[in-house]
Amino acid sequence: MQQPETGSNNIRLNHVAKHFGSEVAVKDLELEIEDKELLVLLGPSGCGKTTTMNMLAGLEEPTSGEIWFGSRQVTNVPAEQRDVAMVFQTFALYPHLNVRGNIGFGLKTRGTSKDVIAQRVSEISHLLHIEELLDRKITELSGGQRQRVSIAKALVRKPFLFLLDEPFSSIDAILRRELRTEIVRIHREVKTTMVFVTHDQEEAMSIADRVAVMRGGELMQVGPPLSLYDEPANLWVAKFIGAQPTNVVPANLGERGGMAGLFDGSCAMQVDEGFFDRVAAATDSRTVTLGVRPEFVEVSAASRGASSLAARVYTLQVLGNQILYDLEIGTNHLLAITSSREHFRVDQSVFVDFDWPNVMAFDAVSEARLKI
Ligand code: ATP
Repeated sequence: MQQPETGSNNIRLNHVAKHFGSEVAVKDLELEIEDKELLVLLGPSGCGKTTTMNMLAGLEEPTSGEIWFGSRQVTNVPAEQRDVAMVFQTFALYPHLNVRGNIGFGLKTRGTSKDVIAQRVSEISHLLHIEELLDRKITELSGGQRQRVSIAKALVRKPFLFLLDEPFSSIDAILRRELRTEIVRIHREVKTTMVFVTHDQEEAMSIADRVAVMRGGELMQVGPPLSLYDEPANLWVAKFIGAQPTNVVPANLGERGGMAGLFDGSCAMQVDEGFFDRVAAATDSRTVTLGVRPEFVEVSAASRGASSLAARVYTLQVLGNQILYDLEIGTNHLLAITSSREHFRVDQSVFVDFDWPNVMAFDAVSEARLKI
């Protein structure tokens, strides 16, 4: 295992694993967190996000592997010596102290002078827009205000690493959106490395510099939000990322220019020749899994010929200026998102085409995305 170059403040997890008895919470995790980035750990419940966070904080020791903060190995260094601050979904605030007392508490216990504490508390409460709350009791605050105070309390001592574990999960949807925007702004201002844990892909995509997607204790992929959306490593990531589920369409592409069998072979469609050539260059197999995001499923009243599939509108949902259609094709279903300017009715017969340059293809067995 290589030691990072001296001077870099990047955080590295080298082959980190955590077992709880026979339960493997985190498997061979290789991850580098760049200095001052906002990295989001994203994955479904039980995928190992909190365990990873706890190992970064020093609350859990890895079963194997190493953790480096810049050129300092911290694998077995206790939490209080790591210069890490944490915010959890439940607010760790002292009810007997007011907001000012809570924010300054950590500095006070470290023996910081009164003047410096006052200065730092003033700066951080300005940044969090909570100056008018400084003399309130914790019990007199709303959930959103409490979470702002928790963030201020964690950031006031300028930690090397700031960890947030589902910090907004107990806050209502509107306020949660507002706090997401705030986190991005605060991150810009404080220029601290932040790791934010969530199971909500929309939250992850909206705030992250990079997202690390975990599943079953394993890192599936790490990258900027748009690269996860455009170039998912595999079918699982493609399905997990995106506001609406990606359509998964098993396909037998057949011959170039001929008809491809879709789903269980029950419907046929002419595949774009450019798409066929790109898949053929990536794999010898003609059996692949197509991943078609609903925004790349085109719906029209008239057939365009052999490339169109006949469908029926099963249900529709109005999403503001767009409509989400659930389309029935024989016994199969496809989701499509279209502009609400062209509106189809439930039970209407329609035709479906794919926007081929944006259709993804996956290996039918390994489910890895084909680089086409
Ligand atoms: P959630 O979003 O539900 O909090 P998570 O992604 O944060 O989930 P972890 O809490 O890291 O997941 O848990 C990963 C796995 O390790 C789970 O299967 C969990 O049951 C197990 N696990 C976590 N902590 C312990 C523990 N102290 N003892 C035994 N098993 C544990």
